[in-house]
Amino acid sequence: MAADYDAIIIGAGISGMYQLHRLRGLGLAVRVFEAGNGVGGTWYWNRYPGARFDSESWTYGYSFSDEILREWEWSEHFAAQPETLRYCNFVADKLDLRRDIEFNCRIRAAIYDDAAGEWEIESEDGRRARARFLITAIGPLSAPTMPSIPGVGTFRGEAYHTGLWPHEPVSFEGKRVGVIGTGATAVQAITEIAKTVGQLTVFQRTPNWCAPLHNSPIDAATQARIKATYAEIFTRCRGTFGCFIHDADPRKALEVSPEEREALFEKLYREPGFGIWMGNFRDVLVNEEANATITEFMRRKIRERVKDPAVAAKLIPTNHGFGTRRVPLESGYYEVYNQPNVRLVDLRDTPIERITPAGIKTSDAEYELDMIVYATGFDAITGAFDRIDIRGWDGRRLRDKWAHGPRTFLGLQVEGFPNLLTLVGPHNAATFCNIPRCIEQNVDWVTALIAYMRERGFSRVEPTPEAEREWLEHVYDTGRRMLFTQVDSWMMGINSNLPGKNKRTFIVYAGGAPRYREKCEEAVAGGYAGFTFR
Ligand SMILES: Cc1cc2nc3c(=O)[nH]c(=O)nc-3n(C[C@H](O)[C@H](O)[C@H](O)COP(=O)(O)OP(=O)(O)OC[C@H]3O[C@@H](n4cnc5c(N)ncnc54)[C@H](O)[C@@H]3O)c2cc1C
Repeated sequence: MAADYDAIIIGAGISGMYQLHRLRGLGLAVRVFEAGNGVGGTWYWNRYPGARFDSESWTYGYSFSDEILREWEWSEHFAAQPETLRYCNFVADKLDLRRDIEFNCRIRAAIYDDAAGEWEIESEDGRRARARFLITAIGPLSAPTMPSIPGVGTFRGEAYHTGLWPHEPVSFEGKRVGVIGTGATAVQAITEIAKTVGQLTVFQRTPNWCAPLHNSPIDAATQARIKATYAEIFTRCRGTFGCFIHDADPRKALEVSPEEREALFEKLYREPGFGIWMGNFRDVLVNEEANATITEFMRRKIRERVKDPAVAAKLIPTNHGFGTRRVPLESGYYEVYNQPNVRLVDLRDTPIERITPAGIKTSDAEYELDMIVYATGFDAITGAFDRIDIRGWDGRRLRDKWAHGPRTFLGLQVEGFPNLLTLVGPHNAATFCNIPRCIEQNVDWVTALIAYMRERGFSRVEPTPEAEREWLEHVYDTGRRMLFTQVDSWMMGINSNLPGKNKRTFIVYAGGAPRYREKCEEAVAGGYAGFTFR
């Protein structure tokens, strides 16, 4: 049976959309399969109140098209989800992408047919298609997880997961709402829900160190300046560790005087965005003593902002230093706990025993609720892969190969799985990045690889086991120096709601985007060193 397409892409978020555009440019027949009913991925699914960027909007959009850069105007420095979804649709219209995308189509299996040298995919509703190349654009945070608490299905009120938020408006007015979770999503949602809610109860297991976002509208003069300097903006992003506009301060926290240290912390705390995380002294994320200085500063800030010292104490993390877990950016989060209609339940003192038809029962009380919001996050990075039955040339499953942690080369290919290309897969720099910046690089790299193969008449590419081993070592070597690898979080593959996800595993690439880019370029310069072709 002849292949239906040259390439199949799974997922129509920022990655899948750009990959489709680029492969079309090579003249390939391409089909995208997308579980949702529209483009945008993250921005299609995450419609919860308060959802917005932590990346500066003007650093997040695609950089490849001058026309798109010229025509699109971000209204705020950190756009809210509806605007970003509009942006994705604008791009889809501009590039006429939808005609090659099959929506409402969740892929459940992808099997490599060794004899034919093709991938066959099958959707949950039985649709099948074959192609030489299979490109996963399935997202780093796209597999939502519910908490493993007994009784979840028994609750009689409204219940929503933030990552599967309904398309219709949800009202909180006059309602008793419970939110489970206090990660980046929860922090955004809680702050927004608190504005109209009757009574809000936040169920917190692990507090996070949150820093102010300082969002604001973009005025006409700033808009003009951004448009005139896009080239410089993207060049700067390319040079920083995580492709954000913020670059680490060249000084070490422990080298400067306490006054100088305080001055930088205070400045960063007052500035918009991730500066306090990505633009801090260069040792705060790698040296415990340096980290303790910013951690103490953040502790003070929480105490200053939360009126009740007992509540402030509960909101102060005690099991990790600042920046060693994903930093939620907030717009008045701590002040929410000064409202008389908001209470905080510390699950470390009183764990949830079960969800009941009436609400949530902890070890010491039952909280009656009209609505439960599950802000319980995602099975990060590898979750979307695990949800597809992916099988390579000898029938072996990707799930099994990665059972003790992912193994890849450059986070883009896996030995035993020819012509499978994984955008934003584990061990790829995109996992620790202002993601579209890394996505564009990955897509360009994959596109060049496919063009190279076509020019030379190759039909099959796969990394060597040695290349994969060396990459794994490199991932571990570069990761180990980061303090975040000593802390339980989704960045280390921990998800207590999932069986088997309780052991720290390197799933991200923490060597920095510039170093990653060098490695990719080195492979190409060496005639795709580390890959075998047929
Ligand atoms: C709330 C939230 C806020 C974020 N904010 C930022 C930010 O400020 N800056 C930043 O850099 N990153 C942010 N991210 C990360 C964000 O995921 C990336 O920026 C980017 O959107 C990833 O794009 P993607 O196309 O790779 O994946 P996604 O946007 O996740 O798209 C993947 C698509 O694949 C589809 N899919 C998955 N599995 C299947 C399947 N089996 N069959 C068919 N379709 C499938 C999904 O439906 C989805 O549409 C945020 C993430 C979340 C959840």
